[in-house]
Amino acid sequence: AQKRYAGLRDQPAVTRDGVRLRLDMNAGLMADLPSLKSSGAEGVGLFRTELQFLVRAKMPRRSELVQIYRRVLDAADGRRVVFRTLDIGSDKVLPYMRQVEEPNPALGWRAIRVGLDKPGVMRMQVQALIRAAWGRPLSVMFPFVAQMDEFVAARDIVLREIERERALGHPLPEKLEIGAMLETPSLAFAPRHFFEMADFISIGGNDLKQFFFAADRENELVRRRYDTLNISFLSLVEMIVKRCEETGTPLSFCGEDAGRPVEAACFAAMGIRTLSMRPASIGPVKHLLRQVDLRELRAAIDAARANGEQSVRRAVMEVLARARG
Ligand code: PEP
Ligand code: MG
Repeated sequence: AQKRYAGLRDQPAVTRDGVRLRLDMNAGLMADLPSLKSSGAEGVGLFRTELQFLVRAKMPRRSELVQIYRRVLDAADGRRVVFRTLDIGSDKVLPYMRQVEEPNPALGWRAIRVGLDKPGVMRMQVQALIRAAWGRPLSVMFPFVAQMDEFVAARDIVLREIERERALGHPLPEKLEIGAMLETPSLAFAPRHFFEMADFISIGGNDLKQFFFAADRENELVRRRYDTLNISFLSLVEMIVKRCEETGTPLSFCGEDAGRPVEAACFAAMGIRTLSMRPASIGPVKHLLRQVDLRELRAAIDAARANGEQSVRRAVMEVLARARG
């Protein structure tokens, strides 16, 4: 199947009505990096840094992390890499960290909550990122931000570490972007100032959907129950797009649904312009995007909504069947 899309690798993701999408890839291990060239991804929209911590028997040292992140940036060869800080806790437990018993791990002490309550590891990781990016652009993204003050506190940690490096006389990243994942519904309703402060936002659809529908993403009994093309979920995506447009905040979508061609086309129709997905999805997503007319797709979505349909899937599949001829 990869062969089938090989010819598309160097083609842009442009829709029939001339909208240019940016397709990035998700990564987390060194083994993923060769895909950057072979998949045709424009950059790494999500680098899940916890994988490097999970494959180790003990806490990596800062110097090791600097080496790893430097190799990631070397492999990216000037393409943008968005490093997400540690997304651990609850279900993703590090064997060398104290384990806490929690009744609802997915709703528990995880990700940025751990990072802010016990900032030692996050600080070390941020230092490593800053040092790895000497003279190059650095993009840092915080997972699981649920309200504005968490982003403010996490951002302050980065800014303080930058000042510390400066005081030490160390070289600094050439450019710094600090962003947030939007993966809890609450953040979509945050004060405007949050959207102004964030240099970019990425929708973590896996978690966002789980919390929006109150359906555990790990639970086979419920995980497929709610359609991503449910009009309520698409309306939330639409609202996030609007809020980001108001403040000029770059927005992307990096959950698994970004790698499903039909879903990806619908996100594009709602106004998303950057999608980040597993490398193998880039070909199929690009293939479909190049056949669709986003205005036509959007009109079908709006009509289905006006009709009171719960999911726009049927309407969308009709349009796509025509587009594919
Ligand atoms: C998400 O929640 O959509 C996401 C991209 O992050 P993860 O799957 O690592 O939770
Ligand atoms: Mg997530």
